[in-house]
Amino acid sequence: MTEVDNRPFPVPMGVLSVWQRSTRDDPLVNMGKDDDLPDKAEVVIIGSGLCGAVTALSLLTAEHPPKSVVVLEAREASSGASGRNAGHCRPDAYRGYTAFSRKHSEQDAMEILQSERTVYELVDAFVKKHNVECEWTPRPTYDVCLSEEFKAYSNIAYDNVLKRGGAKEVAVHVEEASSATRVVDAVKAFEWPAATLNPAKLCYAVHHLCLQKGGYSIFTHTPALSVTASTDFEGSWIVNTPRGSIRSRKIVHATNAYASAILPEMEGLITPTKAQALKLSIPPVGLETFPRLDASYSLRYLPEHFYSVTGMPKALHESLINNVDDSSPVDEITVNAFSTFSKLFPQAGYDPAGMKPGQLRDKDVTADCSQADQKGFEYAWSGIIGVARIFLCAPALARIVMGEPFEATEIPKAFAITDQRLKKLKNMLPQAPAATPRVEKSTEITLGELQEPLAEVRLPSLTAEAEQRRVAVTA
Ligand SMILES: Cc1cc2nc3c(=O)[nH]c(=O)nc-3n(C[C@H](O)[C@H](O)[C@H](O)COP(=O)(O)OP(=O)(O)OC[C@H]3O[C@@H](n4cnc5c(N)ncnc54)[C@H](O)[C@@H]3O)c2cc1C
Repeated sequence: MTEVDNRPFPVPMGVLSVWQRSTRDDPLVNMGKDDDLPDKAEVVIIGSGLCGAVTALSLLTAEHPPKSVVVLEAREASSGASGRNAGHCRPDAYRGYTAFSRKHSEQDAMEILQSERTVYELVDAFVKKHNVECEWTPRPTYDVCLSEEFKAYSNIAYDNVLKRGGAKEVAVHVEEASSATRVVDAVKAFEWPAATLNPAKLCYAVHHLCLQKGGYSIFTHTPALSVTASTDFEGSWIVNTPRGSIRSRKIVHATNAYASAILPEMEGLITPTKAQALKLSIPPVGLETFPRLDASYSLRYLPEHFYSVTGMPKALHESLINNVDDSSPVDEITVNAFSTFSKLFPQAGYDPAGMKPGQLRDKDVTADCSQADQKGFEYAWSGIIGVARIFLCAPALARIVMGEPFEATEIPKAFAITDQRLKKLKNMLPQAPAATPRVEKSTEITLGELQEPLAEVRLPSLTAEAEQRRVAVTA
């Protein structure tokens, strides 16, 4: 076992999500799998999720586009979080205020929240401009408080934002929280406009727009194993893959949860954390008795917990951190989520005592890992939490890649990565957690096979290289 064996690379094949199954016949799925890698490109993007795709499109539609943009993807196209998330486009309207203002400043917190509304509008405009068929459906969203504790937390954030002129779009439900949301235990609810979508379709549509522009190629099943400084071409980097190497002056790391696998300086700051989204079958009582929920929901007992992890044993919770295995769902989470949902919506007729055949279409289970923790969120290097924010940050990132300063972009200032901030964030870590991803299963090739070429790869002297490296930096 080499040092790299412990790095969080994607497992060869994740479980297929609902969304991925809707794009199976797209030629992008395995594009470039058997094609020869070019030996150089003007820009290399590592990762074909929404962040990589929107960055590429922004580069290719710039006034002076690069001549060649190459995307390297470890497995199928868009097989990370962008292909398997919950499908909400849900700009934060107020709740992040408390956490943002603690970590940055009150002004920064307001700037971040204002940008959330902007990004929603950017996605809406993008989908309409390009006629993207991605099931884009504007609809309300609810933050439902399921405890007095979470209500108090939400109230503080909401009041602060309101006082500073924000949250104007938010409607508050107190007495009628339960009837408005149909959640029996709702203590309070906040409602504002949002949307839902099929994220895989959106991501694929962005890649297709890139392909139409020309100068664009995707190589799936081509994991970047390391990035080293070129000794022959000053100022260039070599991206090493099991299928050969590619040289470029500009590398964009759009690897989300997996960032630290090839950027070890991100270890502890971006932590892969396994998360799970489930799809329920039609309610047992039928849609006439329990019509579809029109809104999207965040159902919370505590600020840091979605309903599905409430009551999760500590050991189970810990097992999800530094875990990149998205090849199978965790049964305990499935059962917990299902029974909590059954209790919150008893009218739907699901059996809270457990699942009956057909109540959960287990093929529709998706599992994933993402930088779900606060550190990752605040510091996201190339992965960006949330579909919508990508539409603000990735175009800005493209401008940075082409030489503009961070300050000239619309990215909230608090997201700038400075030495000072890096240091502060590292200091905030209780202790640098060792990246010990569990990689157990594979359906096609083994992790050993995937990583075999690593033995041949000279690992970079990361501290020195990090100094010079022109990496993609985003929110
Ligand atoms: C369960 C779940 C539910 C979510 N729900 C929502 C939601 O409802 N709404 C919302 O806005 N956001 C949601 N998110 C977050 C959202 O999906 C992500 O923030 C977003 O998709 C990140 O996009 P990305 O392109 O940065 O990363 P990804 O889509 O994860 O793309 C990264 C890509 O890089 C590839 N890669 C990694 N390492 C390498 C390597 N070394 N070489 C080559 N390729 C590599 C991966 O295979 C992957 O395809 C959810 C996330 C999860 C996990």
